[in-house]
Amino acid sequence: MILITHAVVGAVLSGAINNPAGSFLAGVVSHYVLDAIPHYDYVDQRFVDDRFSKRSKLIFKFIILDGIFGVLLPVYFFQWNGLYGFLNIFLAIAGAMLPDALQGVQLYFPNKLTLFLNKIHKQVHYLFSERLLLQEFPFFGLSLQVLVIMLAMLVIPAYVGIK
Ligand SMILES: [Zn+2]
Repeated sequence: MILITHAVVGAVLSGAINNPAGSFLAGVVSHYVLDAIPHYDYVDQRFVDDRFSKRSKLIFKFIILDGIFGVLLPVYFFQWNGLYGFLNIFLAIAGAMLPDALQGVQLYFPNKLTLFLNKIHKQVHYLFSERLLLQEFPFFGLSLQVLVIMLAMLVIPAYVGIK
């Protein structure tokens, strides 16, 4: 899923957990759970295969924006107090984005640890279906992610006290 979806769900969970380390862990776990749901990703194999094409450079800019807004939107709109509250929501977001960030690390700095973690990350995507069903349907896929965000905010009302 896109980074904003991961980030918001992680942030929502942190509202219920209210413990920075626990929220970080919950963020990481939520990433894998969400990725198991068939979804749309704008990062695809073509991007991985040819990182320096015009298309890939555009996608890279998208990733940066997705990451920045993934952090800023929940931090700005959700309620949190003081340094503890900030750490709680920020680490949840960081954890929720981590598996995708590790994929980036592997792309630019290949190493055994991220290779292993990325393998698990990739397998999760194919848990319920053999191929990425929604890749050809970006609009539908992204609408589903908006739904995931809304559901997360409804199901875990601890954080629906939006600023
Ligand atoms: Zn992912």
